[in-house]
Amino acid sequence: MGDSLSMKCGIYIHIPFCLRKCLYCDFVSYAGKEELFEAYVNAVVSEINLAAKKYSNLKIVSVYFGGGTPTLLSPSQIDRILFGIYEKFGIISGAEITIEANPETLSLLKLKDLFKIGFNRISIGVQSLDDSILKTLGRNHTSADAIKSYYFARQAGFNNINFDLIFGTPGQDRNGWIDALNRAVNLDPEHISAYCLTLKNGKNKYLQEVDEDLQADLFTVTRAYLTSAGYNHYEISNFSRMSFECRHNLLYWENQDYMGFGAGAYSKIDNKRFHNCFSLDKYINQIRNDKIYSLDDEDFTKNDIIKETVFLGLRLIRGVNDNQFKSRFKHSLSELYSNEISSLEGEGLVIFANGNLKLTEKGLLFANHAFMEFV
Ligand code: SF4
Repeated sequence: MGDSLSMKCGIYIHIPFCLRKCLYCDFVSYAGKEELFEAYVNAVVSEINLAAKKYSNLKIVSVYFGGGTPTLLSPSQIDRILFGIYEKFGIISGAEITIEANPETLSLLKLKDLFKIGFNRISIGVQSLDDSILKTLGRNHTSADAIKSYYFARQAGFNNINFDLIFGTPGQDRNGWIDALNRAVNLDPEHISAYCLTLKNGKNKYLQEVDEDLQADLFTVTRAYLTSAGYNHYEISNFSRMSFECRHNLLYWENQDYMGFGAGAYSKIDNKRFHNCFSLDKYINQIRNDKIYSLDDEDFTKNDIIKETVFLGLRLIRGVNDNQFKSRFKHSLSELYSNEISSLEGEGLVIFANGNLKLTEKGLLFANHAFMEFV
């Protein structure tokens, strides 16, 4: 493997199917493709088998089924993929095994099956607990559906539940968002991801981003509200109860290795990043012909990896630890980036505290500007 920390590896499975496209969606997902479910599952299992021949000695610390809507598949289809991973890779005991789910696809029976199969974390696409906002976003469910699926997940045995929430939807003001947050917190999920609605070029034919001041205000409100409710703000958009940080996503922010299976899935292994093709048909055919990873995205230089480690690490509230950075890359942050760091310190966007380079309160609001120094 490339560097000393990179033996840890996560596995991401992309399930690119949805009942209907949400109005803001820019993910690799397709609606109305039910006839391809079975062929797709077969292709993912085959891809896992092919990859295992090449990467058999990795220590898998997390598995994450994302989408799309993974829970559109039947539990037995999902089980075939998860079983394929367990059969071919070394999964550490206690690994985090997550599935993303949308409320309209969840029943108590399905959740019980998913828990029995081995999932120990579920991320529910709640997005909002305000029905008018859900309508604006073009979601397929109501807030009552989301609440019901949350209670079903608890009943099925899940004790690590994430709510995905979106703020900054047109028509939402500060009070409406606080009310939605309040309703979410009262349910007491272990983890909350709160992302600002972002659209390519700021708008699409259905929606438009709210102005930057309101985005910043809603972000500040979110941070204050959730931390006062006892959640640890550990990444710009993520909050958790103690010890419930998403271990899979931490791999991305720490710039560790991960393998992605499925259409459009990205992998980063041995300082290389590559991804599968986005087209479902092409992906399925490619795997049928025993080919994987046809699209080499980038061949990283060591320098690229180092820069990426800094700006991804700055997403974490604790920042980038200088000692760990030095043991991984043989140079301290100051040795490599004294100019960039001085300039950001001058703007009040980053500080060094307890050996960590991290964003300040102001830096959290202008994070993208700070990251640009390392791109
Ligand atoms: S559920 Fe998620 S992936 Fe599917 S259309 Fe909506 S936003 Fe996109």
